[in-house]
Amino acid sequence: AGDAILRRQRIRESAARTYARSFPIVPVRAHGMTVEGADGRRYLDCLSGAGTLALGHNHPVVLEAIRRTLDSGAPLHLLDLATAEKDDFTSTLFASLPREFAERSRVHFCGPAGTDAVEAALKLMQTATGRRGALAFTGAYHGMTAGALAVTGNVGVKSPLPGGGEVTRLPYPYAYRCPFGVGAEGAALSATYVERLLDDPSGGVVPPAAMILEAVQGEGGVVPAPDDWLREMRRITAERGIPLIVDEVQTGVGRTGAMWAVEHSGIVPDAMVLSKAIGGSLPLAVVVYREEYDSWQPGAHTGTFRGNTLAMAAGAATLRFVAANGLVERAAQAGARMAARLTALKGRLPVIGDVRGRGLMLGVELVDPGGEPDGCSAHPADPRLAVRVRAACLQRGLIVELGGRHDAVLRLLPPLTITDEQADAVLDRLADAIEAASA
Ligand code: PMP
Repeated sequence: AGDAILRRQRIRESAARTYARSFPIVPVRAHGMTVEGADGRRYLDCLSGAGTLALGHNHPVVLEAIRRTLDSGAPLHLLDLATAEKDDFTSTLFASLPREFAERSRVHFCGPAGTDAVEAALKLMQTATGRRGALAFTGAYHGMTAGALAVTGNVGVKSPLPGGGEVTRLPYPYAYRCPFGVGAEGAALSATYVERLLDDPSGGVVPPAAMILEAVQGEGGVVPAPDDWLREMRRITAERGIPLIVDEVQTGVGRTGAMWAVEHSGIVPDAMVLSKAIGGSLPLAVVVYREEYDSWQPGAHTGTFRGNTLAMAAGAATLRFVAANGLVERAAQAGARMAARLTALKGRLPVIGDVRGRGLMLGVELVDPGGEPDGCSAHPADPRLAVRVRAACLQRGLIVELGGRHDAVLRLLPPLTITDEQADAVLDRLADAIEAASA
């Protein structure tokens, strides 16, 4: 049955299908970190719906919240009307946000995807500032709709911002291949560059409506920005009256070893874009922003699917479970355990150029150790090896997706509920796969 389904998918679905190409399996059941295919094979899932499944697949607490809501007779679809489920979700979300940000902030339910919330945030700041353009970063990923695509860094097809706003692309502090060099010094230089460019009348920067950034780039290759650099971006934008939007679509809900990635640096953004894990595996996206930016007229940004009842119930249950069960700390611990093993592996396998990440958002950049190093002494990325490693992982029962500027970064995004045994099994299979694929 599995083969017939795959065959029909190949004929009927868009040529743009992505994950289906990387993982030609037909999942029939999933629980926690484990996905079972139609052929009876079991896989450890380190993709987690591109970082969506904070509690893994079909967590009992999430299923129970969905069942309870279904049985209650609550309307499943209600545009943006007030409901007890929405009220509970909003209270739970605000209680989870950094206090300094949450007090005096408002939420706009967008929907249903991360890219919708990015659109809303950009448009809100355009309205609030009366400006059009945006500052965005190399390697950024914010989504596939027009405005989000304009500020995304790592795809070829571009679109202008609504209203024709210019996007000024700034260098993200990607230390491994950063022209400004590694460590605190490199990050400081890169921040100075941003500041000088903004202040240089000949720099071509039109006063922007916002700066948008990820505290840890995900699709761009799991690149954490140094905390000092983030604090510099906050200072630079605040001093110039530029609203700062932090996209926590992938980093949110404990993934980086903090409930929200902004907590590591302590920066207080003007807006946070949230999706993926906040819906407890169902589609949900919001933008939370400081109330002084609430410049919209009623109906200025509307939509049919804005806050699905089941998603809000599943999301509230997820947020509460993460907070009540120490899963943020667990993500930090499990991440440190996996990072230590990856670093040891790097010492042994020269095809591993870099190991980086934060919490359970980990990246392994694969390189050609025989290739000429670039100006930062990094060997050339090896995307072909990465594809072989991904396939070798799948053969060994491990789902790992790629990312990064050169598609040569293995991205590990396991659920926060990962056990030490599962973490070790992931590393065993990954090590074996890299050795086999690079032999
Ligand atoms: N922002 C970030 C940081 C993301 O990682 C993603 C998705 N990978 C998005 C926005 C877009 O979310 P969606 O795919 O739900 O539109």
